[in-house]
Amino acid sequence: MTRAERALDRIHSGVAPSRDEAVSLLGVSDARLPELLGAASAVRDRGRGRRITFSKKVFVPLTTLCRDYCGYCTFRRDPGEPGAHTLTPEEVIALVQAGARLGAKEALFSLGDRPEALFPEHRAFLRVMGHRTTLGYLRQICELVLKESPLLPHANPGLMGERDLARLREVNVSMGLMLETTSERLLRPAMAHHRAPDKVPTRRLRTLALAGKLQIPFTTGILIGIGETLEERVDSLFAIKDLHERFGHIQEVIVQNFRAKPRIPMAHHPEPSAGEMLRTVAVARLCLGGSVNVQAPPNLAGDLYPALLHAGLNDWGGISPLTVDHINPEAPWPLIGALRRATEAAGFELRERLAIYPEYASRPEFLAEGLRPRVQALLDGDGCVRTDYERWRQW
Ligand code: SF4
Repeated sequence: MTRAERALDRIHSGVAPSRDEAVSLLGVSDARLPELLGAASAVRDRGRGRRITFSKKVFVPLTTLCRDYCGYCTFRRDPGEPGAHTLTPEEVIALVQAGARLGAKEALFSLGDRPEALFPEHRAFLRVMGHRTTLGYLRQICELVLKESPLLPHANPGLMGERDLARLREVNVSMGLMLETTSERLLRPAMAHHRAPDKVPTRRLRTLALAGKLQIPFTTGILIGIGETLEERVDSLFAIKDLHERFGHIQEVIVQNFRAKPRIPMAHHPEPSAGEMLRTVAVARLCLGGSVNVQAPPNLAGDLYPALLHAGLNDWGGISPLTVDHINPEAPWPLIGALRRATEAAGFELRERLAIYPEYASRPEFLAEGLRPRVQALLDGDGCVRTDYERWRQW
């Protein structure tokens, strides 16, 4: 009997995998893969039932400038490059109001990390806007979105200190930072994070812990296939599990797969296979347990995406009715109708959630007081978006 087979036997008797068992499960044979997926699905069904959620969002790329140079990134730009841009308040408002007219509830802010540390042009832009930091500008913009639209901000601005987190908490219903990996090795020359000072794992873990201390519902996850070993992948999942056990604030864990794209330094790096993605989602579910929300973006899985339902996920993430995925612009979102049909055909119910998950929306300590009435007005008894929200469309 192989180590993976022994691990499967233990999981069937209700035991969560150890680190070494999780590593072996990532290498389970094709013949035993259905068993792994079945075990992960059973844990999901016991913890989360047969409901799959998604959030209707507008993607707001506040600035494409970034001081890091991750080897897989197609989003970042230097000043002067085509596509280098920082959105003005007017541009953001036009975007979120258009999204609101299409029924979006979430304004997902994605932006480069600390561009002001590298680019004088960006410092000059911020000065004109009355700020010294991008995070200060972001806070002002989130406040404006709340004032000028019905959307609820969810910001992913990179590393943050305690003060910035506390200030952003007042104007965000949840926030996020992908851990990506705990591998220090990937900081070495020619590796994915060589020129990315904000991808030092201890610094990312610190932001995640501070968010926990401040009781911010937090999104994080792993990025697979960027050069990490299977052991490092499992270590990253266990680091997230540890944070959640300490603070209880990890509202969702994303398993995101690397995609090769023409203009990135890792253009010729192999992408994780469909089987690898299925194994990783299943192992994430088994390591994290049944109650944690596990998500994989359907637009990065091609035709495979309905199969991910059988690996134990319970959320499809944010789906935009308006904007492209600026991080993966080559990968279109599935239409919500198609997503619903595929989800229901596999025997699940699809429900819309807010950027704050139901179990956090019902706990006042996880949401700034000023945001609670807006959140509650949108929810039904299950904590999902009520279906009679016509008034939103009239904004
Ligand atoms: S992945 Fe994020 S931190 Fe890395 S270069 Fe792209 S925008 Fe910057």
